[in-house]
Amino acid sequence: PLSTTDHIEARRICVCVRKRPLNNKEITKKEIDVVSIPGNGALLVHEPKQKVDLTKYLDNQVFRFDYAFDETSTNDLVYKFTAKPLVQSIFDGAMATCFAYGQTGSGKTHTMGGDFAGRQQNSAKGIYALAAQDVFTYINHRRYANMDLSAYVSFFEIYNGKVYDLLNKKAKLRVLEDDRQQVQVVGLEEVYVSTAEEVIKMIQMGSACRTSGQTSANANSSRSHAILQIVLRRNERSSTLHGKFSLVDLAGNERGTDVSSNDRSTLVETAEINRSLLALKECIRSLGKNSDHIPFRMSTLTKVLRDSFIGEKSRTCMIAMVSPGMTSCEYTMNTLRYADRVK
Ligand code: ADP
Ligand code: MG
Repeated sequence: PLSTTDHIEARRICVCVRKRPLNNKEITKKEIDVVSIPGNGALLVHEPKQKVDLTKYLDNQVFRFDYAFDETSTNDLVYKFTAKPLVQSIFDGAMATCFAYGQTGSGKTHTMGGDFAGRQQNSAKGIYALAAQDVFTYINHRRYANMDLSAYVSFFEIYNGKVYDLLNKKAKLRVLEDDRQQVQVVGLEEVYVSTAEEVIKMIQMGSACRTSGQTSANANSSRSHAILQIVLRRNERSSTLHGKFSLVDLAGNERGTDVSSNDRSTLVETAEINRSLLALKECIRSLGKNSDHIPFRMSTLTKVLRDSFIGEKSRTCMIAMVSPGMTSCEYTMNTLRYADRVK
């Protein structure tokens, strides 16, 4: 696993897109696929039935990313080019973050959680599980053995700007910033783990807690951000933080265009999601420009991820998920424009 041929260096910022296949329901409804991925990171949103010829299309229909994964790509493949380099980077002391961004139903949870979203029994492993496996492969590898590292996991949700601990019965937690600008989620469970199976157990527990939604009465998973953190600490130096990997299954971004609602709680939710996704974009852009000013205070999401936006050792990967169908076209374009601005 640590062979040089397999090693992809983690970029500071990597932006990718993943297209999911049409599902049975869409096929039954004769939904038309309007997204093509001709290769080399390019993605094209086109008129139905037209031939795909990149030169024929306007710039605003063709997008280019570090990688573009088409509907035949597996979670394993996506993982290899996105999160895997980040797992390697945290062993070298990085603060790494991987985001799944896109409209509800575009494949964020499928990509991140895979089997562990709790709905499907036999689906492929997602990035959570694949990353957990590699973490323990590396911990036990001779290259890192002398560092004496231990791994811990936290799993929490941000809904309407509030943090809920998914490993502790959705306890509502406070976010505090000290005078050295260190941000802390007070009382967040951090569970020691020694095998990938233990991590997976935590994820299953947390995911079940996430969907049951008792505390925040009408919170459903598409309206909250879920954040899994795998933290490496050095044992001999009284648990000093060595590296951290945050895997973020973001709230669905479709709310931004939904202005028809008169329901106040929905409007508040919408405003909060828009604000946090905007803040995230601004923070990643600042990181990309090596700017000293990272506007992390703009939202709870960016506040709790502050570590990940600061310093030389920040590594970020965004996977923008798109649905292929014509009826999702408007959302797809929004997703692509957002991802395009981040890179
Ligand atoms: P989101 O979390 O973005 O709302 P989901 O991950 O729940 O979306 O995906 C919606 C549905 O589409 C699920 O049934 C999921 O299994 C399926 N799906 C998503 N991506 C893929 C894919 N790449 N291949 C096969 N099925 C997928
Ligand atoms: Mg989801």
